[in-house]
Amino acid sequence: MPSDCLFCSLYADGDHVRKGEGFVAIADINPRADTHLLIIPERHVETFRDIGEFPAEETQRMLEFVADTAREAELEDYRVVVNVGPGGGQTVFHLHWHVLGGRMTGIPG
Ligand code: AMP
Ligand code: ZN
Repeated sequence: MPSDCLFCSLYADGDHVRKGEGFVAIADINPRADTHLLIIPERHVETFRDIGEFPAEETQRMLEFVADTAREAELEDYRVVVNVGPGGGQTVFHLHWHVLGGRMTGIPG
């Protein structure tokens, strides 16, 4: 794990809204919606382009964790956003999933 990675640090020691086996959810520090959560996997990969580095069952559990986190936040309708690379708005280079619900004020990133 890169010691200079913000989301590796927040995974290890952050304010977790929800915690699962290998995944956490945190509140985005700069929310773009009434509810704006970030799902962070423990496994460090820089971007969604590297999704193939996840074992298939871990990918499935990660997606279920995204859906379960939205459900627990009492969101029925919402957006799931992944910014990929600087040109796609990515600013933190550890894979993460944005969950946005309620009134939205912009696209993250
Ligand atoms: P992205 O631009 O897709 O890489 O998303 C990174 C997100 O992390 C942005 O929406 C930031 O607001 C958020 N962020 C940055 N630093 C923190 C932090 N310390 N705690 C929570 N969220 C953060
Ligand atoms: Zn990391």
